[in-house]
Amino acid sequence: MEPVGVYIHIPFCVKKCNYCDFPSFPGFEGIFHEYASAVCKEMERFAAEHGNLSADSVFIGGGTPSLLSAEDVTGIIRTLRSVLKITADAEITLEANPGTINHEKALAWKDTGVTRISLGLQAAQDHLLRSMGRIHTREMFLKSIELVRGVGIGNINTDIIFGLPGQTMDDWLETLEFATGNNMNHISAYSLQIEKGTPWFELQKNGELTYVDEDLEREMYHRAIQRLGENGYCHYEISNFARPGYVSRHNLKYWTGKPYLGFGASASSFFHDERVANVGDPLEYIRKIRENESPWFSRETIGKSEKLSERFFLGLRLIQGISLTSLENEFGREAINHYSDTIRQLEGRQLLVKEGEMLRLTKKGLDFANQVWMEFI
Ligand code: SF4
Repeated sequence: MEPVGVYIHIPFCVKKCNYCDFPSFPGFEGIFHEYASAVCKEMERFAAEHGNLSADSVFIGGGTPSLLSAEDVTGIIRTLRSVLKITADAEITLEANPGTINHEKALAWKDTGVTRISLGLQAAQDHLLRSMGRIHTREMFLKSIELVRGVGIGNINTDIIFGLPGQTMDDWLETLEFATGNNMNHISAYSLQIEKGTPWFELQKNGELTYVDEDLEREMYHRAIQRLGENGYCHYEISNFARPGYVSRHNLKYWTGKPYLGFGASASSFFHDERVANVGDPLEYIRKIRENESPWFSRETIGKSEKLSERFFLGLRLIQGISLTSLENEFGREAINHYSDTIRQLEGRQLLVKEGEMLRLTKKGLDFANQVWMEFI
């Protein structure tokens, strides 16, 4: 079997950011070690059942994995290495937030084989960081880069957000310049989505949030594509840009329908055509692992037609698009023909274009990608 990807979820943060609906919780410092041990146990149990797997990408995400102690992170990675074969060239990413990194931790990550750090910047202006509820400043971000590079981890991704309340075009251009000027190898530039259950959703409901208008938000996206392109970043996925040789191997697995394993609370796996998701509550997760119960919250078999639909809407996130020939080889011509009318209709609206065997979003399609994906779901 080809190497899988492994995702390990660390659901803890110092505090909740105002826009965040990710499964992450503040105030759980007392259970960090117990949680890390439970993750190790889950991995060992999985390996005892499946044996002989290898992985060429590992992503320790959250939450804020850099909140864990150096020992807990190295313990997780060592256990992973003991239960499955991590290939020599594996990409091992750890998500970190400025303000939660020190030299001792960074050194331990390096020593245990972490090859890539994903560092949350979000914005280069302290007033925007404050309004987002972030725990760090621009200066702390710089300090974090220094710490990580200082121990020899040179591959750094940063996440930045556009469309923030109160953000001007100048702010956004400054954020882009700050990220490129500090030589990030990979940049994820996301459009802000205000999700239900977040403080910003409540403010928005009450009309108390200053909006970036839709045209400005789109213009920010277009300027990101232009500026990052000028600075040598390849736009390879709708929100992702990489310098040559730094495309994220792990995320590519999600977009190309490859198998991955997830460990930890809220983590999900796609393996042997099954999608399995773990319970989200970290305490419940620890309890289940301790009592030798399955941590699964849901388990479903992904049938052929569902798999194909996912391949379309995930694959179309990639700027190069998807190969219709590969899909046809894998799923059969009849299954692909099922989407012929949809594709024709989207081509007619100039949202999709076919070039040889590749089907991809057009420039206009990048702005209306959600409408395209809906047609394939
Ligand atoms: S640091 Fe990230 S995961 Fe944690 S609350 Fe903020 S946005 Fe959410």
